[in-house]
Amino acid sequence: MKAMKKIALTAVMLLGLLAAGCDQQNATSDKGLVLTGKTMGTQWRVSLAGVPAGRADALRAKIQQRLDQDDHELSTWKKDSVLSRFNQRRDNQPQPISHNMADVIISALRIGRLTDGAMNITVGPLVNLWGFGPDKQPLHTPSQAEITAAKALTGLQHLQVIERADGAWLQKDLPALYVDLSTMGEGFATDHLARLMEAEGINNYLVSVGGAVLTRGRNAAGKAWRVAIQKPTDQENAVQALVDLQGHGISTSGSYRNYYELDGRRISHVIDPQSGRPVEHHLVSATVIATTALEADGWDTGLMVLGTEKAKEVALREKLAVYLITKEKEGFSSWMSPQFRAFLLQETGDDR
Ligand code: ADP
Ligand code: MG
Repeated sequence: MKAMKKIALTAVMLLGLLAAGCDQQNATSDKGLVLTGKTMGTQWRVSLAGVPAGRADALRAKIQQRLDQDDHELSTWKKDSVLSRFNQRRDNQPQPISHNMADVIISALRIGRLTDGAMNITVGPLVNLWGFGPDKQPLHTPSQAEITAAKALTGLQHLQVIERADGAWLQKDLPALYVDLSTMGEGFATDHLARLMEAEGINNYLVSVGGAVLTRGRNAAGKAWRVAIQKPTDQENAVQALVDLQGHGISTSGSYRNYYELDGRRISHVIDPQSGRPVEHHLVSATVIATTALEADGWDTGLMVLGTEKAKEVALREKLAVYLITKEKEGFSSWMSPQFRAFLLQETGDDR
């Protein structure tokens, strides 16, 4: 589901969450059960404590089936996904969707409103114009006229979720509206992995899809799971901060290395819906901890669009648990909201 798959993956490893590194560190006496696989153009990972290895194959199959189902609903890369079929429609008839899918969209619209439209799931035509969607990368910088034309096809006000006891529907009043849920797909899928573990009677787990992670209980060494936020450097496994999620979800959005070059400029895959252009500020990574990984994954993108100063304002106003890394003339600076501090185990400080 990620746009620019290869580059995006690298960014997740460089800037994202280092769950793997940490549970390896923790699990010196007993590694527990670790399952991995691929989904949405990225990796999923499940670490479990106290689960016999004999359950591995059955669990892996159930996980993959669940994630394939999510991908079938939300992917804009798969032409026959529920979302792709909605995007292809050129009428304003309500299309039936699952309550699950309604949840993601309602949550995305809410975060969209609370970030003044910075987090905007109708930004698809602009994403495609700048070469990060299923369409090809542009050979020239889009003109203002092209940007204006694509922007006219966006707008959260054109999208509506209808939810009733007997079902949910998605409706647009702009036939060409194109909904892109890429940025919340990982969080959505991570929450599903957590729910699946609960349904399987498993209470001690770390689950992750791409840059979204959720933990509950303890690791195989009997300690709290620790998740690391990486430093924005090339150095692998350089830890910027360590957190104990205490049953919450976490997600990081990083723009620093998530780009391609066009006409000598860096083009980020995060688009500012207002300007219609890729973000160009100095906020390098935005990490959010929230009750669900879905919420965290929605907010991190919104904050990334807003840039350091506005992201701080919104984090404080909405009482979000947020950690920001900003590129300075020399090195980087970090900022955390009071709510984030409650999860912090360790910050590596000025070691750049
Ligand atoms: P990151 O890991 O850097 O946060 P994601 O893959 O989560 O990246 O989100 C980036 C993707 O989200 C883009 O490739 C695009 O499809 C979509 N996107 C870009 N800009 C926005 C935006 N302003 N609001 C919502 N989605 C966006
Ligand atoms: Mg996100």
